[in-house]
Amino acid sequence: MQPGKRLQGKVAIVTGGASGIGAETARAFAVQGASVMICDGNAALGKAVVEEISKAGGTSQFATLDVRSESQWAEVVAATEKAYGKVDILVNCAGISGRDPKMNIQTSQTAGPRLAEQSLESWNLVMDINATGVFLGTRTVIAPMQRAGGGSIINISSICGIVGSFANAAYHASKGAVRIFSKAAAIQYAPDKIRVNSVHPGFVDTPMTNPGHSNPDVAKTRLQATPLGRFGTPRDIAMGCLYLASDEAAWVTGSELVIDGGMTAN
Ligand code: NAP
Repeated sequence: MQPGKRLQGKVAIVTGGASGIGAETARAFAVQGASVMICDGNAALGKAVVEEISKAGGTSQFATLDVRSESQWAEVVAATEKAYGKVDILVNCAGISGRDPKMNIQTSQTAGPRLAEQSLESWNLVMDINATGVFLGTRTVIAPMQRAGGGSIINISSICGIVGSFANAAYHASKGAVRIFSKAAAIQYAPDKIRVNSVHPGFVDTPMTNPGHSNPDVAKTRLQATPLGRFGTPRDIAMGCLYLASDEAAWVTGSELVIDGGMTAN
């Protein structure tokens, strides 16, 4: 991506920033002039992204964060203000699919358990990371964004937050929660010029979807349902986040940006 100034002078926190969509969003933000706090549970991958950004002339740091932890959120946001002076942008991107992580290749269209086999423990894990993590992050940046005179919060939901499917119901429920939570937060904090929007990717090639897309039957079904005829790339989603983070989206709040190759238009 060509260097630019669309986020010049802005400070961003990106969760899930070590991998896939989050990592590409962090790279895109840094190329456009933002200072980026990259947060993730995976320190090795996260530090590698910082190194890449640094080699390209950008500014970033890594902080370990489990998005379920209130105290770690407080530490990360305080560290961001200390390092860069403020917080303008938060991208809540960390998430899990709910699939058994030992499943290297997805053998059916259902990534996780069907309802009758869903344990309360596995339901709670998905909800805690995908939905409660977004609540905690959003809540923690409100005061810093008020101090900064406004901000942009971008919550990564999914097309699974808009339509149902055969896939893991806990994933659908968590992403639906993110969608409507974002609208409520947008209304509550519009007077403070804090914008809150959700992004709804379709099927994007990342480590999360790799087990499914490695199975030709799963890949074929998903591609046939995608009018533009290819899987998304992390960059496709990062470009939407970049728009929502920038002042170009100054009048955009409570909206849902679907980036899915046309899948949900059907
Ligand atoms: P990814 O490559 O697996 O990246 C997700 C990142 O989140 C990983 O680095 C993961 O770290 C981190 N993470 C997981 N649990 C965490 C926690 N408790 N605290 C902090 N970090 C945590 O997946 P991705 O495809 O880029 O997904 C990014 C977001 O997009 C997710 O919210 C996902 O639901 C959403 N999304 C993806 C697609 C798609 O097709 N790929 C479609 C729609 C929506 P570990 O590896 O250490 O767990």
